[in-house]
Amino acid sequence: MTATMSLGQRLDLLISLAAADQDDAGALPPRLRNAGSSGAIGPLNLRTVRPGPGRKMTLLRVLMTNACSFNCHYCPMRRDRELPRTLLKPAELVRIFLEAHRREWCQGLFITTGIPGRPVKVMDDLIEVLELLRERHRFAGYIHVKMVPGAEPAQVERLTALASRVSLNLEAPCGASLSAIAPDKDFTVSLAGLRQVRSLVVREWAEEADGKRRDRLHPGGTSGMTVQFVVGATPDTDRTLLRSVRRLYARGGVHHTHFSAFRPIRNTPMEQVRAAPALREHRLYQADHLLRQYGFEEAEVVYGPDGNLPLGVDPKSAWALSHPERFPVEVRTASYAELIRVPGVGPLSARRIVAERAGTIFRGLRDLVRLGVMGARAAGFLTVGGRRLQQERWAEQIGFWRPEEGVGAGHQIYEFSPGTFR
Ligand code: SF4
Repeated sequence: MTATMSLGQRLDLLISLAAADQDDAGALPPRLRNAGSSGAIGPLNLRTVRPGPGRKMTLLRVLMTNACSFNCHYCPMRRDRELPRTLLKPAELVRIFLEAHRREWCQGLFITTGIPGRPVKVMDDLIEVLELLRERHRFAGYIHVKMVPGAEPAQVERLTALASRVSLNLEAPCGASLSAIAPDKDFTVSLAGLRQVRSLVVREWAEEADGKRRDRLHPGGTSGMTVQFVVGATPDTDRTLLRSVRRLYARGGVHHTHFSAFRPIRNTPMEQVRAAPALREHRLYQADHLLRQYGFEEAEVVYGPDGNLPLGVDPKSAWALSHPERFPVEVRTASYAELIRVPGVGPLSARRIVAERAGTIFRGLRDLVRLGVMGARAAGFLTVGGRRLQQERWAEQIGFWRPEEGVGAGHQIYEFSPGTFR
């Protein structure tokens, strides 16, 4: 039966487990009666993520409550918006997760929440969930928890000790931008929380490097922090966003950044503001990869005159086209660092090229494609034994494509934001 259940059936079954706390067994408490009707911001979701190359993990994603006392202009859960509200208590959340885990529907947990009332109370509830899972039920797997701004330092320390990963929504790169879209939020308060978690993670990493064994029930946030920005809700450019991201990485403890393209939500003050193109979000992720995994410096990222990444070409191709002196790259002799700068060549395929060419003579594109190179993208930037694989470069072939022209042509208003569960 389990194998044939749809996602919706699984989530319905899981939410019904919350009823077990009630005297009237089988009936959901009023605060959960709308759990099935609150659409994409309902309390549960199952989602498969890729925590690393070749790895997959399904997380039960739980929105502890979609009620909130804050009134952020872009958010579907803001205080003044009509919405069926739901709330899971810590013991209910734990019971639901353990059942989903027992049924092998998920391997880990992601918890996020609105902030109804005082942030300190919400943090207490989050900590209670983690304490129950770790210390009573001895769950040693992955738990990612989104902390709320305004927590007390002792709470931040306890939450980080129990979590695999702690994340925080910064939303905007500076206080002025944040207060324009989230008047109840204080950038310095968010930043203080981020700095504390980061320093705890960095300390934990250093102690592990010195030989300390990881306590799987108290992993200390060692999967590294994540932070999130809303893209396009403020006038901040991609250059400004990536500069902030770079500063965050430079101080350690941050694993990666989430970018959420702004979408106008019905019945919010930003309903008439145009959506940011999904492609802009994608380009920011690509540029972020260049900074984190390809050895690019922030100053090497190519922007358009408006300070944003070009939408019509990916950031690596934009860099390659603006540096003709660096190409073509000779496959038989280039260093790893030169190879990973070629469009269509990633860290894995570059490593394979360097490893295999010691015992193999590459003759053409087919040899490279076999190692994971994206042939059509890479061919115009490479030579093999002095012979160019292709005269035209992929990025120039698609030069006629101007996605910017179609962006924002229609104005669509949404009921929820895809960033809710990040
Ligand atoms: S962004 Fe967070 S704090 Fe702001 S209204 Fe939405 S849930 Fe509340």
